Amino acid sequence: MAEETKEPVGFSDLGLSETVLQALKAKGFEVPSPIQEKSIPILLEGKYDVIGQAQTGTGKTAAFGLPIIDVIEKEGKHVKAIILTPTRELAIQVSDELNSLKGKKRLNILPIYGGQPIDRQIMSLRKGIDIVVGTPGRVQDHIQRKTLKIDQLDFFVLDEADEMLNMGFLEDIEAILKVTNTDKRMLFFSATMPKPILKLAQSYMREGHQEIAVKAELTTRLTDQ
Ligand code: ADP
Repeated sequence: MAEETKEPVGFSDLGLSETVLQALKAKGFEVPSPIQEKSIPILLEGKYDVIGQAQTGTGKTAAFGLPIIDVIEKEGKHVKAIILTPTRELAIQVSDELNSLKGKKRLNILPIYGGQPIDRQIMSLRKGIDIVVGTPGRVQDHIQRKTLKIDQLDFFVLDEADEMLNMGFLEDIEAILKVTNTDKRMLFFSATMPKPILKLAQSYMREGHQEIAVKAELTTRLTDQ
């Protein structure tokens, strides 16, 4: 039997706005990676919570970042999306990547992490931040100081969820989740899917969440970083 040839899929086939398509062009991304191709349409559809699994370096940031940028509406000063990362380096990296993907959309994106003076972060948060990318400790610190409110979220994202659990952040994640609104969408992205993550998803995600996995042998790392 002849093998079916699959039409190559481009970013413009995934339902993304012209604004982010332009940003992608400027960034030089030509084709979506497998995890991007699978996640973006589901996330743009606006219904399901999602667990996405693919190796490190396969473009998971844009897989959740592009639809978040497109879906959230720049209205009001409240935080609309929070992305938790295990390390400060990753918080900065994800924040930089989102800034380069937002194109002309005027969104304020702020990394918050330990080791940086908290006053500076407080001043930025006061101005109104749309997307916070933070490490669990500093995020909790801001919540306790009431300098960060995350009770009107559209999205709650765990990036490198397996690393977060390895580093002992489960309790912090659960404490942070407690102060969020229940009608947010939850996205977990991870290189591996150990049981505690699936359990966390079962406890906190809404019914009918989608699981997206890209097998290791199908992925090539986009860059050698
Ligand atoms: P992960 O979160 O899976 O570890 P990243 O989102 O950090 O991976 O992406 C790895 C690198 O690949 C980054 O430098 C990113 O800018 C780049 N990248 C992501 N998607 C694409 C794409 N579709 N085409 C080209 N480069 C991409």
